[in-house]
Amino acid sequence: MVGRVGAPAYARHVTVQHLDQDTPDLPSATLADDAVEEAVEVAVEAAATERPPSRPGLSPSRANDFLQCPQLFRFRVIDRLPEPPSSAAARGTLVHAVLEHLFDLPAAERTLAAAHALLPDQWATLLERSPAIGELFADPADLAEWLTSAEALLGTYFTLEDPTRIEPRERELLVSTELDEGGPQLRGIIDRVDVAPNGWVRVVDYKTGRSPRAGYESSALFQMRFYAYVIWRTRGVLPKRLQLEYLGDGVILTHEPTEAEMATVEARVRSIWGGIEDAARSGDWRPRTSKLCDWCSFKALCPAFGGTPPEIPEGAIERSIGVVPAA
Ligand code: SF4
Repeated sequence: MVGRVGAPAYARHVTVQHLDQDTPDLPSATLADDAVEEAVEVAVEAAATERPPSRPGLSPSRANDFLQCPQLFRFRVIDRLPEPPSSAAARGTLVHAVLEHLFDLPAAERTLAAAHALLPDQWATLLERSPAIGELFADPADLAEWLTSAEALLGTYFTLEDPTRIEPRERELLVSTELDEGGPQLRGIIDRVDVAPNGWVRVVDYKTGRSPRAGYESSALFQMRFYAYVIWRTRGVLPKRLQLEYLGDGVILTHEPTEAEMATVEARVRSIWGGIEDAARSGDWRPRTSKLCDWCSFKALCPAFGGTPPEIPEGAIERSIGVVPAA
């Protein structure tokens, strides 16, 4: 059961059953969130290089990349081609940083004004880490407008939750686990984990885009189920609630996972990984066109649009996937 809460009134509930469908949902406005996941992915990879994984890794965003388009997966994971920054993704990263640090404050001080006051410092930190983002705002008026839009997203957050009443157990939690009998190391970063006095665990993810249309939530829920699975495997506790908070339109999606569902998640991940290994062995990173191609950073290199992908660097497939391609 998926619950959907639109601020301020309760909306409807729908049931999502197609966990094993092959086609990811076309997001209504999740491209910015995809880009934020991309930034998270970079952080995950950075953490992984500090402590080298024993196996190749797979995150929900990379799994979704493969389902969306194997060629896109290749460009990102095997070729590791850089992608230009976008203002929407940068805003998502900034808002996530503010929401993370908001909970550093004493509970009573977690006001909207305090969240707005965190923006300049977090913007400076982001700029220091990714100077290329600054080039998006050559005109100071553009920067001011962009920061105002970040303030608006924070304002929406406060219509969804009262942070003075929440004491997160974890923020920006790096999680990973390894599947039995081979397969990738599953990795991700969870925005927030709350634990109720009775021990119930709630996994929370912020999205700065708009919520998916009713009936099209499964792609977003795959990410949350993936996190639930990793927590269940590593901590022996199945989260009671998975909660997606969409600041773009003020909607909360919730889902209560079951142990039976965790077996489906595992089967789903194995199936996706099997597809990735097959593509790596055969070299068939087939482009799969969709309306998302219009936002793809690699369109000029994509064979579906007349482009020529670069040669895959020597050993890159084995390093990334752990598979030696067929000669
Ligand atoms: S342009 Fe479309 S088909 Fe080509 S790599 Fe990007 S997403 Fe895939």
